[in-house]
Amino acid sequence: MADKPSKSHGRLAVRPTLKPTELMTERPDLAGAWKVKIVTLFPETFPGVLGSSLTGKALQDGLWQLETIELRGFGIGKHKDVDAKPAGGGAGLVLKPDVVGPAMEQARRGTPVNPKAWPVIYMSPRGKPFTQEMAQNFAKAEGMTVLCGRFEGVDERVLEEYNIQEVSIGDFVLTGGEIAAQAMIDATVRLLPNVLGNADSTVEESFSNGLLEHPQYTKPTEWKGRKIPEVLQSGHHGKVDAWRREQSEKITKERRPDLWAAHLDKED
Ligand code: SAH
Repeated sequence: MADKPSKSHGRLAVRPTLKPTELMTERPDLAGAWKVKIVTLFPETFPGVLGSSLTGKALQDGLWQLETIELRGFGIGKHKDVDAKPAGGGAGLVLKPDVVGPAMEQARRGTPVNPKAWPVIYMSPRGKPFTQEMAQNFAKAEGMTVLCGRFEGVDERVLEEYNIQEVSIGDFVLTGGEIAAQAMIDATVRLLPNVLGNADSTVEESFSNGLLEHPQYTKPTEWKGRKIPEVLQSGHHGKVDAWRREQSEKITKERRPDLWAAHLDKED
């Protein structure tokens, strides 16, 4: 029997775990650290890209923490079903409210009810477009809960019941909310105190003042016959600032007439 190949031989195995996720968190809650709870069918996709570079170091240093809550553990019946056909017919599958609901309730345990202190978000192409301003607000919260959809999305009643806000990362459709969640969390975590080496970089970058950033250059001063603009080498801070501002305005005007119009409105 022992050498008989298993039924799943040669297939990629997906092994749902029934272990309560609370037992899987590696460390106890770090007092005061910003925390994100992710409700997902695919917890193995986290921390993903957030585990690298500055966000990864900050995670290791305990400046923020991440807990995944696996939807499959709340699945129903022998097969741990999490989805079913859309009511009214049509293509695909919808995540069941009696599966997503209990997962959201687990996530809610021990978190503030005030959505400013603890936003509860569903990643969704129908959501409010994610912006730098939203990242700034999320970073000011104690933490947040993020629900990642799959298939055709989640049953609408779950969104109503738990007062979940929908957030989109752009006008396109992904297969799941995990990449969107990671993009949103990355933009938020880098605004937390002490995550970036240089806090000024979040003050001067694109969107923080309603404009896109000016071009950036670094050594060597000449590359493939292209020189760094003279003014940047002048050492004259006033002139450098004026040049950057001018470039920033020019680029915003050309590429993002929507941002430019909003900027002009604000100045009035
Ligand atoms: N049927 C849905 C799309 C489902 S895509 C519709 O037409 O609106 C599957 C999941 O991917 C969604 O539940 C959502 O969590 C995620 N997703 C897809 N595109 C996204 C986007 N632009 N922003 C955020 N999440 C997205």
